[in-house]
Amino acid sequence: MAKILKGATAQETHSAILDLIRSSGVVTRVDLADRSGLTGASISRVVKQLLADGLIIETGLGDPTGGKRATLLQFNPRARHAVGISIDTPSTTYVVTDMNGRVIEQLSAKGIGRDTPATVIKRLTAELEDLIVKTSIEPATLVGVGVALAGRQGGGDQLLRANANKYAWEPFAVRDTLSAAIDHPIVVENDSTCAAIGEFWTGRIPSANDFATVYMAAGFGLGLVTNGDVYRGSSSNVGEIGHMVLDVNGPDCWCGGRGCLEGLAAPARVVSLAEQDKSLTADLGLRGRRSAIRSDFARIARAAASGEPRCLALIEESATYLAKALLSITNLLDLDQIILAGPGFSEAGEIYVRVASAEINRLSFVRAMHPTRVELSKLGPSAAALGAASLVLHSQLTPHQTANRGALSG
Ligand SMILES: [Zn+2]
Repeated sequence: MAKILKGATAQETHSAILDLIRSSGVVTRVDLADRSGLTGASISRVVKQLLADGLIIETGLGDPTGGKRATLLQFNPRARHAVGISIDTPSTTYVVTDMNGRVIEQLSAKGIGRDTPATVIKRLTAELEDLIVKTSIEPATLVGVGVALAGRQGGGDQLLRANANKYAWEPFAVRDTLSAAIDHPIVVENDSTCAAIGEFWTGRIPSANDFATVYMAAGFGLGLVTNGDVYRGSSSNVGEIGHMVLDVNGPDCWCGGRGCLEGLAAPARVVSLAEQDKSLTADLGLRGRRSAIRSDFARIARAAASGEPRCLALIEESATYLAKALLSITNLLDLDQIILAGPGFSEAGEIYVRVASAEINRLSFVRAMHPTRVELSKLGPSAAALGAASLVLHSQLTPHQTANRGALSG
């Protein structure tokens, strides 16, 4: 940290200290000086400013060390708020969070479905306005709106949707259209990256820790946080592990390849394998419609979690393919920690954690050097929306960490 702050501007120093307070939760001025390498006088000056800005508060006294009890500092949770929206085909999730990333209000609404982009954006704008009014937060404390997108992103923060009928890409100008209707900064990012930044912000992960988040909804995505910032790749389409090839002779994939992780392990694959067993289909009441894949998968995963042997075999097979993909990713990136997030892990996440953890710690190339922890996200099925809100807080409050400031508009 001291090295990072060498030659830093006053604004960068403020951001870095605020980020230390975020990852510490509760901290004293002495701790901040120790961890940042700044002098006590510099820390006092920065803290004074952060207190004056209302971003942090004093919350009592710590344990006595050498006689004097130091004042504890922490975020002032109500000082700033953010909205996060996760836009996906089956549903749209909205959350309003405080500065710690705690949810104050949330709403689930209709997803994109087969609607045109214009219809979807109009609906989003109206729902968002209603939600902001309902939460009755002070408008000046709302720092922005983060949008998590499932799917490919195009230039200018557009979502590119594959039109299933034409197999053409449909541009969907999310940021520009929302910016025109909403008087707050809009930040757009893919859902896996949002989930990763949500873990970072709300899980108080220090900037020094590098980790990955695997997000499972209809498919799989990987979000990476390194050195306190998200890794975006050249077009914010980083982490498409769903199209990592695991079987060169495997089934055809809609992406044009074959044997992709998605085709071998995603919810649609698990449901289609379950449907080959007529008695299982009847026992679980699977509906077998394309629009019911998420709920059919949830039934199978719930049964697997309670030990139903046929469902357990199906989920373990899906988990094994995911584990093989994660093993390659760990070997590529040398990670300490992988967090499994998103609605796909809601019912049987523990099975995925068990299988992936065993596989990685049995075969990872660096297993003799350090373990790789595989954990379930604590953010629940709204991880992407929560992460989108965290992304806004991160880019507005600790911008020194955000290399791609072009992602911010408004
Ligand atoms: Zn593919």
